Amino acid sequence: MKDCLFCEIAADKSKLVWENDVAAAFKDIHPKAPVHVLVVPKQHIASLDDLGDVELAGRLLAAVREVAHHLGLKGRWRVQVNVGRAGGQVIDHLHVHVLGIKNGSLADPLAG
Ligand code: AMP
Ligand code: ZN
Repeated sequence: MKDCLFCEIAADKSKLVWENDVAAAFKDIHPKAPVHVLVVPKQHIASLDDLGDVELAGRLLAAVREVAHHLGLKGRWRVQVNVGRAGGQVIDHLHVHVLGIKNGSLADPLAG
């Protein structure tokens, strides 16, 4: 979609850490964990409220898992999806936050 930041990023291979035919992943510009990546559908979908396509929903979740493993986070990561302004969503293109840590625990804010 025109004028959508995450549509633009998803179409720019130089910005991606991972992609397949339906999803793309890139680093969050303001990381809130030692590893913080956003996974988005390549097609413009405004939020999780608008994801009615169950096949795409499944493929997006599978992509999230693949990204986490690709980043070396197996067994030590979490996901977050903010929905709507009241839910903390500020960019209106569905994105799944993948947050992880290579050493230590996400439960310990001092670990890296
Ligand atoms: P949300 O609050 O769930 O909508 O999250 C939006 C996220 O997008 C925030 O964590 C921002 O740091 C991140 N963000 C904003 N602009 C960019 C950008 N140009 N590249 C990567 N991440 C971005
Ligand atoms: Zn978009």
